[in-house]
Amino acid sequence: MPLVTSQALFARAMKDRFAIGAFNANNMEQIQAIVETAQEERAPVILQVSQGAIRYCGLSMAAGMVKIAASLVDVPVVLHLDHGTDFEQNVRCLREGFTSLMFDGSKLSFDDNVAVTSQVTTIAHACGIPVEAELGKVLQAKDNVTAAEVKAAMTDPDEAKKFLELTRADSLAVAVGSVHAMEAQAAELDLQRIAEIRDTTGAPLVLHGSSGVTDASLVGAIENGVVKINVATFLNQGFVAGIKQGVAESPDNVDPRKWLTIGRDMVKERVREKIRLFKSNGRIDSAGGFVSAATQHRSSDLGALE
Ligand SMILES: [Zn+2]
Repeated sequence: MPLVTSQALFARAMKDRFAIGAFNANNMEQIQAIVETAQEERAPVILQVSQGAIRYCGLSMAAGMVKIAASLVDVPVVLHLDHGTDFEQNVRCLREGFTSLMFDGSKLSFDDNVAVTSQVTTIAHACGIPVEAELGKVLQAKDNVTAAEVKAAMTDPDEAKKFLELTRADSLAVAVGSVHAMEAQAAELDLQRIAEIRDTTGAPLVLHGSSGVTDASLVGAIENGVVKINVATFLNQGFVAGIKQGVAESPDNVDPRKWLTIGRDMVKERVREKIRLFKSNGRIDSAGGFVSAATQHRSSDLGALE
């Protein structure tokens, strides 16, 4: 089906307390793995394009591949810009048909973050496209950050409320204890802060840096108001592990598809694991809409009989 925007997905996720996986992809195989698994799991899904992915394959190529992948399935797919750098890049993404934007002004002063985020929401909302903004800083693992630095960079609930009122952003990426590109799954989130931000703002909350967070903490985040969880490092690790396995098994092979297929299958299993952890599986009916509460109940009863 054609790409969809995220407003209705987030409203449903807030109501029913699940989260939508926002998976990063850099190439055709990763896009296929994400979209095909979402279809198999009957889950809505967000496919997001990072700055690295834009540098690697170009904005038009990334957008084109995701649109085609979405057209081949009957579950909702959102095409999202991850960590948009400026106003101009967001405009280019609108022209390419992105159905969700992001401006990350977390490195700017509060006032400058408000100013640019507001420019982006004005133009995006004119086209019916929602915008994710970021307040507080989700730090990078490569900078060897300390626990004290992570805590000092966390999002303040009252500031978040003011920020959303001023910018009219549709969702907010919050800094609540996770760190980007962590390789070990060891971080615990500040669940009370997540609940406070949800209660103060009423906005859909987004978690970045999930690959380094424990499963229990991710489940707690969903229960307290997170409806979009970004997953990048965990999928890249799986893709590379698959290729390495292929090279080890058949070092003389010259057909790249043989190795890339193993990588793609590894990504599929990791996407499946996250979709189930986020409880977004089994949400979408055969017409591409949300299953009704009654149907959901019935199908889970049927599941228990099998
Ligand atoms: Zn991020």
